[in-house]
Amino acid sequence: MDINILGDKPDMKMIINGKKIGGEGIVVHSPIDGREIATVPRATEKDVESAVKSAEKASLKMKELASVIKQEMLLKISEKIEENADKLAKAITLEQGKPIKEAYIEAGYVSKIFKVAAHALSELNGGYIESMLEPENKYILERYEPYGVIGIITPFNFPLLLPANSIAPALGAGNTIVFKPSELAPISGLFLSEIINDITVSDPFLGEKKLPKGALNVITGDSKTGELLVKNKDVDMVCFTGSMMSGKKIYESIGSTVNKSCSPKRLLLELGGNAPVIVFEDADLKKAVECVAYGGFSYCGEVCISTQRVYVEESIYEEFLDNLVKAANEMKHGNPLDDDTDIGPIISAEHMNKIIRFIEDAEQKGGNILCGGRDGIYIKPTVISDISQDMLISNKEIFGPVVGISAFKNLEDAMNLANFTQQGLSAAVFTKDMSKAMNAVKRINAGTVVINDTNQWFEPHVAFGGYKWSGMGRQGGIHSLKEFSQVKTIVVDHS
Ligand code: NAD
Repeated sequence: MDINILGDKPDMKMIINGKKIGGEGIVVHSPIDGREIATVPRATEKDVESAVKSAEKASLKMKELASVIKQEMLLKISEKIEENADKLAKAITLEQGKPIKEAYIEAGYVSKIFKVAAHALSELNGGYIESMLEPENKYILERYEPYGVIGIITPFNFPLLLPANSIAPALGAGNTIVFKPSELAPISGLFLSEIINDITVSDPFLGEKKLPKGALNVITGDSKTGELLVKNKDVDMVCFTGSMMSGKKIYESIGSTVNKSCSPKRLLLELGGNAPVIVFEDADLKKAVECVAYGGFSYCGEVCISTQRVYVEESIYEEFLDNLVKAANEMKHGNPLDDDTDIGPIISAEHMNKIIRFIEDAEQKGGNILCGGRDGIYIKPTVISDISQDMLISNKEIFGPVVGISAFKNLEDAMNLANFTQQGLSAAVFTKDMSKAMNAVKRINAGTVVINDTNQWFEPHVAFGGYKWSGMGRQGGIHSLKEFSQVKTIVVDHS
């Protein structure tokens, strides 16, 4: 497959106030072979300020855009993403390393995300409310208004989908944006921003329209650039998707930063997970194994909702382990450009070291590595049995194709194991007994709980977010649009 979409190490540019801006660069390496594929500017403090200023300036024009125009724009962006699916999927694989078949799925989801935002915009209507007071001389109206400037910061694992998941609803709700993609995988986010900035719609009544200049700015850089964006006083809301550690830092720092109107900054956090799956003895074992293999190993385990901990009822523990190891060994790791590759390379040496540290920690504390481990730049699908609560794999997010398993005695035991971590993003329960399943659903502290299917469940129109330290706020469909809006109540005395 020819993946040379970037030519020879191009200097990619940021977009500030509709203009392409270069600067001294960060080199982007492909995890496929370590080669330098592009350079992106490292935004200076001045760049961050001018991006935020231009977003602020565009705010008024953005607020004036008719809702129907925003919908048409979101739909047109969705179309453009479909047209550019080849280029976008190749960019994802090139910079992030996921198998090309998964990169196409990611691009497909992104097109849907813009459609979903366009449709959800029709639901973002306030409305008329009857007053409860007498005399009856009031009209009461509720109206959704944008916050203003949103700082959007995204991680490396879905370099196209995660920017889209925040940018589409933030624009739909009428905000302007300064977006900072991950320094490890900034290219797809830059491509997406170019598509959005180039969109023109032609409305039969309102004529030709473009997004106001400065409505979507994109700056590149690392965590320092992210910090400058978070602290900027003209940013009204921060929408952060990334690790729990970085999210905690932002949460702690944001209280001490105020925006220009001295109001507290709004914060939306989508952070890491450490998903538990509970398999009861009456479960469809074959399906449970397939779902754990998919949830734990697909996308190289680099999904916030990857399956990480599996608790299996004692009586079927050994049988489950044998079947999962078989499924893990059937998965092929290798060049992500090959159509039959299931597991691509790990993004960086630093991330590889972290995964190895987790595996070694489990081994030292009594876990058994039943299959997998490192093979050069890859981690083969790894199954660790007999995990205990003191291990890193039980407590922290590994973000690699590694699943830890232990046995449980009864429902009470399973619930304690599922809930003891700081994270609570997603979980799954396998049983044919619906009353047991619903009991577990009510007791598991996670934003999504799936019964009898993979916990790695994401649909762009459905609420998505974390309990505990997995996040704050909800994304998905109308939920995202509401997160990016504030409600104004208007009371009219007509006496
Ligand atoms: P990361 O936290 O290291 O970095 C994410 C982004 O934040 C990057 O752009 C980085 O430059 C920036 N950043 C880091 N520290 C910052 C700070 N103090 N202030 C401002 N910006 C800062 O995460 P990562 O390793 O790129 O991504 C993996 C993590 O993202 C995993 O924990 C994963 O679970 C999480 N994630 C969560 C979701 C979700 O929806 N809940 C989705 C995808 C990934």
